[in-house]
Amino acid sequence: LARLYGPLTALSNVRVDIMSALVSFERVFEILDLPPLITDRPGARPLPVGGPADGAPDVEFSDVHFAYPAADEVSLDSLQGRGDGGSGPGDGVDHAPAHPVLHGVSFHARPGQLVALVGPSGAGKTTISQLVPRIYDPESGAVRIAGIDLRDATIQSVRDAVGVVAQDAHLFHDSIRNNLLYARPEATDDDLIAALRAAHIWDLVQTMPSGLDTLVGDRGHRLSGGEKQRLAIARLLLKAPSVVILDEATAHLDSESEAAVQQALAAALTGRTSLVIAHRLSTIRSADQILVVDEGRIVQRGTHDELIAQGGLYAELYRTQFEGRAPDREWTVSDSSS
Ligand code: ADP
Ligand code: MG
Repeated sequence: LARLYGPLTALSNVRVDIMSALVSFERVFEILDLPPLITDRPGARPLPVGGPADGAPDVEFSDVHFAYPAADEVSLDSLQGRGDGGSGPGDGVDHAPAHPVLHGVSFHARPGQLVALVGPSGAGKTTISQLVPRIYDPESGAVRIAGIDLRDATIQSVRDAVGVVAQDAHLFHDSIRNNLLYARPEATDDDLIAALRAAHIWDLVQTMPSGLDTLVGDRGHRLSGGEKQRLAIARLLLKAPSVVILDEATAHLDSESEAAVQQALAAALTGRTSLVIAHRLSTIRSADQILVVDEGRIVQRGTHDELIAQGGLYAELYRTQFEGRAPDREWTVSDSSS
């Protein structure tokens, strides 16, 4: 089932025009047998970073260029793998040009570091984060984990090594237990409860009449954004990946669940190398490195204090978002941060 995560994340980024054709995410997910968008190269070998026992690896981007495939290549037909000859190259349909998004991104996250990505909406932060679990491969340049070019690693081993907590945590329409077991099928109820506790969500699950058997997802028990995110964190803790990609979301959290989410996140990031699309000043300040992304390039990098001293885009971000002045450009950073 872990193989489904990649295509699922890829699917979540399919353009809105395609998504609007879908009845509901979960339903589509249940009925499609999605093939991976990328495949193992002959001779691909597993990444030597299965779990926490192997230690946190370094993550390196080296002159990464990336363009999304033309929209018509990411059609439902291609996702379904319906090779009925109705679509694809050579069928006489005009193909839109690829859309370049990253223009030479380089950085090095050392083992156990927390690297924060900040920048305006559309800058390329999510795209950068998606190259780490190999949702996509770069057009040129390389992404390496533990020094190994991900294109030389098996997709399965990359997906095992990298855990993702997306901004909009996805839950299957299934029980809490089964949602967690996707991450680690052999986990016992005690394991699940320990993860739920660490993610600060066990207190809630415990009060539900059906406990771990409570159905969640679109048609199940209604969970708040913060509760969903904490369940996603519990899932991550069970998976125990050595690299974590986190798209921090705070806009929809009330302050009570926000504190719980913060504690859950701290548990999720400890001892792992993490790339966080950061929306909270507290996260940004605690980062070992901040990468300021603008129009597909890293335009500034450093710690909070270094970047403030430098002036430029980061200082502007800080001033407009956190010192109460009107923003003169759009940033994704929430102004409700602590
Ligand atoms: P950010 O996370 O910084 O807001 P993104 O990485 O989501 O930025 O987007 C960077 C650029 O890539 C934007 O121009 C966006 O429209 C485009 N983009 C994002 N996802 C896709 C996709 N699946 N297909 C085509 N273009 C995309
Ligand atoms: Mg984004």
